[in-house]
Amino acid sequence: MRRCVGCMTSFPKEELIRLALIDGVIRVDQSGNAEGRGIYVCHKERCFQIASKKKAWARMLKVPIDAVNVTLLEQDLKDLWEPEEVEI
Ligand SMILES: [Zn+2]
Repeated sequence: MRRCVGCMTSFPKEELIRLALIDGVIRVDQSGNAEGRGIYVCHKERCFQIASKKKAWARMLKVPIDAVNVTLLEQDLKDLWEPEEVEI
């Protein structure tokens, strides 16, 4: 089980997106086993937004993460997000 940095809920690892520092830049870890500390986030835009607001990326990875990097990460993640459930 791994915990999403956005909603802080635990899920089986396979259900989350692994992120890692690759060449000093936080990115989606496509291989799932890039070296170094990995962090996990749900397939939801909401969780990305929460984590960004909390500046969770820099805190979890213990390195400064600038706004440009967060924007690049968002581009990477966009394709992986599930549509939000419609609330009635
Ligand atoms: Zn989440």
